[in-house]
Amino acid sequence: MNLLFANDRPGEFPQSFYAASRDPAPDRPALAGAIRADVAVVGAGYTGLSAALHLARAGRRVVVLEAHRAGFGASGRNGGQIGSGQRLEMPDLEHMAGKPAARRMWDMAEEAKALTYALAAEAGVPTHRGIAHCALHEREVTHAHHMAEHLATQYGYDAITPLDRDGLAALIPSPLYVGGDIDRGAGHVHPLNLALGIARLAEAAGAQIFERSAVTKIRHAHHAGETSRVITAAGEVSCDHVILAANGYLDHLEPKIAARVMPINNYIVATEPLGPRLREVLTENIAAHDTKFVVNYWRAHEDRLLFGGGETVSYRFPRDIAALVRKPLEQVYPQLKGVKITHAWGGTLAITVNRMPCFRRPHLNCLSASGFSGHGVALATHAGKLMAEAVTATGDGFDVMATLPAHIFPGGSHLRFPLLALGMGWYSLRDRLGF
Ligand SMILES: Cc1cc2nc3c(=O)[nH]c(=O)nc-3n(C[C@H](O)[C@H](O)[C@H](O)COP(=O)(O)OP(=O)(O)OC[C@H]3O[C@@H](n4cnc5c(N)ncnc54)[C@H](O)[C@@H]3O)c2cc1C
Repeated sequence: MNLLFANDRPGEFPQSFYAASRDPAPDRPALAGAIRADVAVVGAGYTGLSAALHLARAGRRVVVLEAHRAGFGASGRNGGQIGSGQRLEMPDLEHMAGKPAARRMWDMAEEAKALTYALAAEAGVPTHRGIAHCALHEREVTHAHHMAEHLATQYGYDAITPLDRDGLAALIPSPLYVGGDIDRGAGHVHPLNLALGIARLAEAAGAQIFERSAVTKIRHAHHAGETSRVITAAGEVSCDHVILAANGYLDHLEPKIAARVMPINNYIVATEPLGPRLREVLTENIAAHDTKFVVNYWRAHEDRLLFGGGETVSYRFPRDIAALVRKPLEQVYPQLKGVKITHAWGGTLAITVNRMPCFRRPHLNCLSASGFSGHGVALATHAGKLMAEAVTATGDGFDVMATLPAHIFPGGSHLRFPLLALGMGWYSLRDRLGF
């Protein structure tokens, strides 16, 4: 079964609150016939759209092929948190990559946040600052405070304020947490509007986006000067470079990458408008996440709470997503017991074994970036820029990221699902038992 078509109506946005509250977007045509481009991009999420934007601004003819709608995938459904840093904590990244490379990756992550805020502003999409990190156990509070100090002393990042139980409760009135921190440099955004905004900017710069144009096959160039051919049901693009930006849906298009990048599903709900009750759960317009392995994360849009939690590694979204997510929502906020849930949706993200994204050149003139492991709002947006710079030979950030190891999931592309399901089952049990 192909995840790209497993859970949603083809060619339509999912029934999410984001789709219901999105900015207008044109219904773009499907590719028909053969066309020529400098670069063909597969997938119109943050990665593909940002690659297209930066390539078009560099004067390249770019064609984006999107199976459904621009922003259909994780980019249009996520928690909207513009987090700081890479997905791994810096001491772990220093250990993995060495201090100089880790430093460069920290700097790139800061550029990623700045790029995301700047593109959102250019596209007229509001962003808000502040993400609270909420710890369930005292040892996690100590760890969070130690990390904040590490970032301040080693990386000069002083936007994080450590919080004790009362300090956190003043922002996040939940009985569950014993402390944490607030990162005022991180932020949040309406994720689908961010994707639609980057699409608008890319088109204004000259990129062409085709929707309802699933790529079914790619014939890669084998020697210099040969073009690659990117094929859909009704057309094909011949091009000098191919950018793979299909993230969790990549699968059979590039099995070498798919074996290293595992799709998992995660779920979000939107509550009814809460009116003044919103300030009983979020005293400021900040986002939040907690320290559970199957993380809870939330933010508000106007006076609704958007709350994410729950994860499955099966292909299919569960039948009753609202019931699945209501459980952690009411654990975090007992004061919202019985609150009406108006929208519930699932999304497919992609993780890697070491939780760092997988940047690779799987073929001649072909680049792939995926597996942002739940930390892609800023980093995928930035990955697109790094890919554009790699194609135009104007930057080495892509190749710096590509030095990171990208391990194959145990079981390869066939057995990885059952094995990961076992692993995730253990971790969520650990969450439930509180150790
Ligand atoms: C529920 C959820 C919550 C999340 N919360 C956060 C968060 O709060 N903060 C954060 O930083 N990250 C979060 N993430 C992760 C973040 O959304 C992703 O890392 C990011 O959106 C990845 O962008 P992308 O462009 O690489 O992939 P996607 O947005 O998934 O885009 C891939 C696109 O490729 C298209 N495609 C796939 N195959 C083909 C094909 N064969 N032909 C044509 N098109 C194809 C798909 O239709 C899709 O539109 C979350 C993800 C989910 C699912």
